[in-house]
Amino acid sequence: MIKKLLIANRGEIACRVMRTAKAMGIQTVAVYSDADAKALHVLQADEAVHLGPAPSKDSYLRGTAIIEYAKKLGVDAIHPGYGFLSENAEFAKACTAHDIIFVGPPASAIEAMGSKSAAKKIMEAAGVPLVPGYHGDDQDEATLKQASDAMGYPVLLKAAAGGGGKGMRQVWKESEFSAALSAAKRESMASFGDEHMLVEKYLTRPRHVEIQVFCDTHGNGVYLFERDCSVQRRHQKVIEEAPAPNFPANIRQQMGGAALQAAKAINYVGAGTVEFLYDEDGSFYFMEMNTRLQVEHPVTEMITGEDLVRWQLDVAEGKPLPKNQSELTLTGHAFEARIYAEDPNNDFLPASGTLSLIKTPMLSAQGSASKVRIDTGVQQGDEISVYYDPMISKLVVWGENREAALKQLVSALKQYHIDGVTTNIDFLIDVASSEPFGNAELTTTFIDKHADSLFNKQSKSVTAELPAIALLTVLSRNQCIEKQSLLPSPWGVIAAWRPNMEYQESLTVLVNDKAHALRLIHKDASGDTRKQKGIALKVLTGSDSIEVAGHLEADKLITFVDGVRRSYHFSQNDGKFGLFGQDSHCHFKVVAPDIGDDDDNHTGASLDAPMNGTVVAHLVEVGVSVKKDAPLLIMEAMKMEHSIAAPCDGMVRGYFYQPGELVDGGSVLIDFDADSKGE
Ligand code: ADP
Repeated sequence: MIKKLLIANRGEIACRVMRTAKAMGIQTVAVYSDADAKALHVLQADEAVHLGPAPSKDSYLRGTAIIEYAKKLGVDAIHPGYGFLSENAEFAKACTAHDIIFVGPPASAIEAMGSKSAAKKIMEAAGVPLVPGYHGDDQDEATLKQASDAMGYPVLLKAAAGGGGKGMRQVWKESEFSAALSAAKRESMASFGDEHMLVEKYLTRPRHVEIQVFCDTHGNGVYLFERDCSVQRRHQKVIEEAPAPNFPANIRQQMGGAALQAAKAINYVGAGTVEFLYDEDGSFYFMEMNTRLQVEHPVTEMITGEDLVRWQLDVAEGKPLPKNQSELTLTGHAFEARIYAEDPNNDFLPASGTLSLIKTPMLSAQGSASKVRIDTGVQQGDEISVYYDPMISKLVVWGENREAALKQLVSALKQYHIDGVTTNIDFLIDVASSEPFGNAELTTTFIDKHADSLFNKQSKSVTAELPAIALLTVLSRNQCIEKQSLLPSPWGVIAAWRPNMEYQESLTVLVNDKAHALRLIHKDASGDTRKQKGIALKVLTGSDSIEVAGHLEADKLITFVDGVRRSYHFSQNDGKFGLFGQDSHCHFKVVAPDIGDDDDNHTGASLDAPMNGTVVAHLVEVGVSVKKDAPLLIMEAMKMEHSIAAPCDGMVRGYFYQPGELVDGGSVLIDFDADSKGE
């Protein structure tokens, strides 16, 4: 019986395993590094042991130390999660040697699958279909090249020790072979300390379909259907789903059977995944077997209704599998989107920083026809550090069919608001709502093929009312803070506002670094039933006039524009604010005329009236582009004429005052559209 379980991992998977352990009445022990002292997995565990500094090799990879602590704390079993020590045969052996159950397959099965080429030999002998190729021991360049030439190009060079897409190179023609081989070997040596290569026929439009298998110590084995993980970036999964769409039942059966054959060939025990390439013509080929629980296991849980961690713990205790093949059913459709701190528009560069805002989508109501599940190991205020994989969470949804589940996925992604680090959420929304994804036109080259429509999209258009809502956010926040404290508000620069007074001021709002000059009229909202707790504003932008009202409610800003109620989440980072609505989000900064911030504010103080006076003339027509320093408007004050010049190259979008009108000093005179930096 497992009474106490140590989870030799961190983040979402540590929390995930603990959830089931707790439900089974098992005590939990977490491990952590310096960087994770306050992490969710530590807070959620009954006990936690500190392993060392942040780098994995000094903490999460210290197998011997982990086993020592486990002995000291009377731990019965160790769950390795995925990554770190999960596929380390030595660690599995050491656990067994110390009378601790390793929640995973026998060390011999890990070893058998540890090398892609050795695994292929075993699979070949077991009659499992392989991608045509060479996986022999002779590593002479001439031998590898001859195999490639014979097979015909394109071919794929793969590191035998490979993982995570490293040490892999496509070769499209004979003349490129030598250079590609050297590069793949170098990468493999650097990542795995080994340069053994294998060669495969490169399939140009395959799908990645994998089978979840489970075996117990009594000789039983089942497959829990498949997952389609074709949507990948640099050979890493982005969105996974189950079941695979347009996947004939007979292929499911054949692939499931082949996967079980693979598992039986190595006397497998526990949860494993057999990965296949599924080609357009219906043929499929063994790629590799992962001897652990996969990141994407929740989609299988969603469609089968089974708890795979519970299965793992049951099997580890020596119990038979909870179900046989005929008892397993496949219901509905599930997706998993991996929410990462990374910049898809910059080659998916990992991002780090403090998660200043995390607002998760609503989880499904009881009895609802769809389900939303979030597996995460972080909470608001936590740090995404440079030391580990920058995954923030996994968003998992289920619906009665693919269409319903996909709608749920897009909707949940739109409700997922994260600030403080760059995330891939917008990218995931674009992928999930794209037509080819909706049509399930899935291949492993999906992202490359549709790159034009997925990357570097113009930032979603900023609606006319967004700058006004930005002002409302700051004002509401100020009002809220002033009620609680007399200290100056850290929330921006609109300090002069007084409740219940008609008050005007001119401001510039930088929305996504683009300047919007506004005139703001705080309305006396008496008679307005919302007045009690809210603020009502009239905002003039060029020739448009927008009326917005709103108030803060819990952690949301509620707005009313043209009678439509909307809600936004907001955040603050380094003087910039984030505003997150259902269909749009932006970052903004409010700049008061006399506080000017010339670094970011192209319109700056120079578009403001320098003092009280009269507008004399407009010098440039609306819509005309001008160069920096071009005179735009003449105003008279103190019996002198003052010329207001363009602060940078740009275009006049409108004038807030007509010739002859009196203006107050500090009022913004011109709605000026700067040629912004990056656009
Ligand atoms: P790793 O262990 O590094 O993740 P895999 O062998 O699992 O490498 O392959 C990762 C991905 O690379 C697959 O999901 C697939 O998209 C692609 N891939 C692998 N082998 C081939 C092949 N022979 N032809 C086309 N694509 C392949």
